Amino acid sequence: MPSERTITTITLPVAFVSQLTLAEDIASTLNCIAHWLPKIIPAERASICLDAGDEENLEIYVLSGNEAIPVDTKVPIKNSMVGRVFSQKKIEIALALEEMTENDCQMLSANGLKTCMDAPLNKGSSCFGTINIAHSQKDIYGENEAILLQCLANWVANHLFTHYQLDIQKTLAATDSLTGVYNRRTAFNTGQRLMEQWQSSQKDFALLVMDIDHFKEVNDQHGHDAGDHALCEFTRIINTAVRDSDEFARVGGEEFMVIMNGADHAASNDMAKRLQNAISTLEINYKQQSFSFTMSIGITHPKNEDKHFDDVFCRADKALYQSKNAGRNCATTL
Ligand code: GH3
Ligand code: MG
Ligand code: MG
Repeated sequence: MPSERTITTITLPVAFVSQLTLAEDIASTLNCIAHWLPKIIPAERASICLDAGDEENLEIYVLSGNEAIPVDTKVPIKNSMVGRVFSQKKIEIALALEEMTENDCQMLSANGLKTCMDAPLNKGSSCFGTINIAHSQKDIYGENEAILLQCLANWVANHLFTHYQLDIQKTLAATDSLTGVYNRRTAFNTGQRLMEQWQSSQKDFALLVMDIDHFKEVNDQHGHDAGDHALCEFTRIINTAVRDSDEFARVGGEEFMVIMNGADHAASNDMAKRLQNAISTLEINYKQQSFSFTMSIGITHPKNEDKHFDDVFCRADKALYQSKNAGRNCATTL
């Protein structure tokens, strides 16, 4: 039974507070909460649902105890108690799950749980998801447990907010804002790492520097918006052509690079041909306009005289300008 006096203090295990403080990412934060929740509030099931990002569902990210609704399940926001808590951003207790008509309540009830409580993970005007507990003993949750759960939920939401912000900042720092592909900084870091690997173990890699031909004319004839759209289409095509182990990045303007980890000369030449073919056959359609373009490529691999990745990049850039001078839409290896 819930205690009669409203609580004004919360006692938490030191190990929980220290683990939560040390959690470095969202996954470890959520796992820490799900693990500790049943040790803090009576619960035979503890889970955390997060916004699935499709505007229709929440998704169960972590779970401990009773698996009535398993991890990774998408719970529709409509017709679920957890969805209502998420939408209304208000904590709810279901005292008799077997009498509830919502899908999630029925699933919990079918697996022997009698009561549950869901608290929203609110931060400012946003709600990230919910924190949920359930028990097979009726009437186990009251005002005190609600205060405690909402307090924990607010705390967790704060942690999540910090991690989300950090993830957003990391992505912004690593990618190009127009096309979403990696930026020069990220690619140069990868390149330097592969350079050091090559210096210690001679593991080859290839660098392809690519520049769209006469791109100024695209802007002049079709407008800057069409040019932006073309750059996004260009990256979409290259992204589908490169391997997962390759790194594709925008160097700046209409110049891009692909780093192929472990590629020999035959592989880099083959890749250049494939990319050039894919781009020259790409038709850009934008606001009743249709146009196409080609690109020139400079290819190189690390050599003994290279001290840094910058040296490799300079050679690839030189090769690229030889391709431009040779009439464009071709590749040169140096
Ligand atoms: P080349 O074949 O010698 O490379 O000729 P080019 O016209 O492609 O090269 P140039 O350096 O003369 O012009 C590059 C053009 O790319 C000019 C610039 O406005 C355009 N550009 C660079 N970044 C962007 C961008 O983000 N969006 C759009 N729309 N255009 C861009
Ligand atoms: Mg160009
Ligand atoms: Mg250029």
